Amino acid sequence: SEQVFRSSLPPVPLPRRSVFTHLLGTSPHIPHLVGGFSASSPAFIDAVTGVTISRGQLRSLTLQLAHSLINLPEPLQHRGNGATTTRPTVLVFSPNSIVWPMMLLGASAAGYTATLANSGYNPDELKHQYIDAGAHLIFVHPSLLDTVKKMLTSIGCSDMRARVIVATSGWLTGVPDNVTPDMSGFVRLENLLGRGQLTSEVKFDGERSEETAYLCYSSGTTGTPKGVQTTHYNITSTIDMARPLWPNTRPCLAPSIADAAGPEQPDVALGPLPYFHIYGMVKLILLPIALCTPSVVISGFVPEAFLKAVEKYRATSLVLVPPILIVFARLEAINKYDLSSVRTIISAAAPLNRNLVFAVKTRFERAGFNVAVVQGMSQRIHIRGPLETRLISPSWDVGYGLTETSPTVFILPNKYAYRHAGSVGVAIPNLEVRLAREDSGEVLTDIEGAGELWVRGPNVMKGYLNNPSATAAAITDDGWFKTGDIAVCNADGFFTIVDRRKELIKYKGFQVPPAELESLLLQHPDVADAAVIGVPSKEATELPRAYVVPARTIKKEETATFALGIQEWVARKVAPHKKLRGGVVLVQQIPKSASGKILRRELRDRAGSDMAHG
Ligand code: AMP
Repeated sequence: SEQVFRSSLPPVPLPRRSVFTHLLGTSPHIPHLVGGFSASSPAFIDAVTGVTISRGQLRSLTLQLAHSLINLPEPLQHRGNGATTTRPTVLVFSPNSIVWPMMLLGASAAGYTATLANSGYNPDELKHQYIDAGAHLIFVHPSLLDTVKKMLTSIGCSDMRARVIVATSGWLTGVPDNVTPDMSGFVRLENLLGRGQLTSEVKFDGERSEETAYLCYSSGTTGTPKGVQTTHYNITSTIDMARPLWPNTRPCLAPSIADAAGPEQPDVALGPLPYFHIYGMVKLILLPIALCTPSVVISGFVPEAFLKAVEKYRATSLVLVPPILIVFARLEAINKYDLSSVRTIISAAAPLNRNLVFAVKTRFERAGFNVAVVQGMSQRIHIRGPLETRLISPSWDVGYGLTETSPTVFILPNKYAYRHAGSVGVAIPNLEVRLAREDSGEVLTDIEGAGELWVRGPNVMKGYLNNPSATAAAITDDGWFKTGDIAVCNADGFFTIVDRRKELIKYKGFQVPPAELESLLLQHPDVADAAVIGVPSKEATELPRAYVVPARTIKKEETATFALGIQEWVARKVAPHKKLRGGVVLVQQIPKSASGKILRRELRDRAGSDMAHG
């Protein structure tokens, strides 16, 4: 009986083919075009060196890599690590680098699945994903080789040189790879290039488009991280469905940004988001290829280095998350750089509240003393010196989505950015959305007019890898995916996320699964029981906080030391984003339902009142 919302935009046709074919396909009749745009157009630019790879080079390098992956010499030929997988899987473990697009698309061209691991993982966390995904090969950045060696040693791997390819980039950028751990005997990425090239990529046409292209990990509504099976069709659809909401993109048709610069400067994307997260992968690698937008590759977020890159490469679209916008809203250094190229700021992955939208707007306007747009002229004019004309503030595209929806569900198009600030926008074409008040008799929210957001459409994942029960809990028999987020919709069809039903904690856009920290805490000899929740934080969205029942009597004067000891113990065992930055609180017992389920809302209420009382 609930209303089903459909996008007001007309459905778009969705082809069934591989990610590689969709983005970098060619036709024998028009060989100078790659994915529909000139082969000489720049595809990726290394922020540090300015080294650029064109679409044609990307296609060729990717097909060379795919050729080697398929014809790997012994002993790199592998048949999986023992776990059940449907097809060979390569694990990518690397911070952002210019060779990422080759690894992502090379896997697709070779017909493999790629699983993307958080580059902050320690050996234990990496092991979970390596085993669970059934990876047979690891692409690892030189700086992380040591972690991979430790992980492989811990599972008794005796032939690690046969499982690892070091993802070097010095051969391309000219900057020697800064290698601390011993790389000798390991195959490097460049060793796999120049040995021949696939004449054609492995095709995933028709029904084969339902095969898994990428496996990112998400904890979903509950439990520990699970492999999200994102199919070729999910990815190619998400790209084509989001396209109508980027109507004003200007492809870069010249061989370099400098050649193309002028009044109609083409789009240039820049963002510090990690490529291993689906948001970074799609918005900074795949979508830019589809739109022929050069994407500047930058690793990590150092505010001034980032602003320098905006200025140097005349970036037009900044792909960001709210915690980075908070830094920008306060950063005086913004005044030092020419940010006049910025046309759009894209924010997603965590809630963006309207105050922040306006704070960043104000900061850009204040910084705009040397940037102006003269009304009525199509030309962008840069005026050095005092403000003379109307200032331009960047427009916004806000996005909402999940790993499980590949990722986009809603986009707030920039013309509504200020009028509907705080909303996540409207559904992208071909999607159906509903707000469920109830699920199997359970009332899902007591917020007036709100419901749990359920989504159905071509970008909803196939399911969780080797986990039919989690898949059945997440997707109904008739195809509705339950997001675990609570939303409302206004009369104009604009959605706003108002609460989260699921346990997930978001720290600076990264997922922190409470269940993972809880099971870790229970391994501590002094912990009898534990529950982890997120406490609100302006800078980070949420901070993970543990409520812990000690296994022995703790004197009052010992409490702070005990809590700190637990906090530090956890910090040594997890990736940086999962540290218990919200603190450790000692309690007599964890509130639980009759069936033993942690009553997180009670803990959240308690945290709220603790914070209110300082
Ligand atoms: P992930 O799978 O890591 O992308 O996490 C998805 C979750 O992040 C969603 O279910 C939301 O809880 C949250 N999220 C993503 N985008 C937004 C947004 N624009 N506003 C509020 N929450 C968001």
